[in-house]
Amino acid sequence: TLNVSDTKNMLLYIANKIISNKPYLTEVDSKIGDGDHGIGMALGMEEVKKVLHRLNGVDSVYKLFEEAGNAMLMSMGGASGVIFGSMYLAGAKDMPSKECLTAFDLADMEEKSLNSVVEIGHAGLGDKTMVDALHPVVIAMKNNADKGLLEMLLAAEEAAKTGVENTKKYVAKFGRAKSLGERAVGFQDAGATSVYLIIQGMREFVE
Ligand code: ADP
Ligand code: MG
Ligand code: MG
Repeated sequence: TLNVSDTKNMLLYIANKIISNKPYLTEVDSKIGDGDHGIGMALGMEEVKKVLHRLNGVDSVYKLFEEAGNAMLMSMGGASGVIFGSMYLAGAKDMPSKECLTAFDLADMEEKSLNSVVEIGHAGLGDKTMVDALHPVVIAMKNNADKGLLEMLLAAEEAAKTGVENTKKYVAKFGRAKSLGERAVGFQDAGATSVYLIIQGMREFVE
């Protein structure tokens, strides 16, 4: 399990990982999108770092995800701000205060986040969005939570990786790639790539 300080450090680790992948995410988005995904994600994660560093005396792991999600919502703006903000926020808000995060807690959080992202954005599997990575992550987490955090995250990372690979096969139903039709086939989705990096960041931190 992760205590409050571990959880804060994990979120900071992920933020730094996304920030260092800014050029990569932008390159991925530029192939079939408008090439700003890395910029938006890095901006959101810079704000996450600021907010987390400013927070003191937090007694709940959920509070950290909530603050991080709000920071992304406020700073990124636009569709991806809401979507990635919700990925952190939706699983954590209205949760009772808790001093440690278990594999089961994380799996529950990601499930709620997925539900919220789908509710907000209406994307389903195969629509070439971050849902193609987040949905398999949730299934892998649910199936492996009883094996502990690291085993669960290894399975989730693998599932996210496959999810990103799968987006290459799809025509986009949302966002700017939609207008490309078949021409988007062969290219991976930027948001799904971010989900993969976030989950990989969790695994790297826990390992
Ligand atoms: P924008 O498309 O406004 O330039 P970004 O480039 O930051 O925003 O993010 C694009 C990513 O957002 C896409 O690659 C996709 O994964 C995700 N996305 C877009 N629309 C949706 C949606 N309706 N549901 C889920 N994810 C979405
Ligand atoms: Mg844009
Ligand atoms: Mg974009």
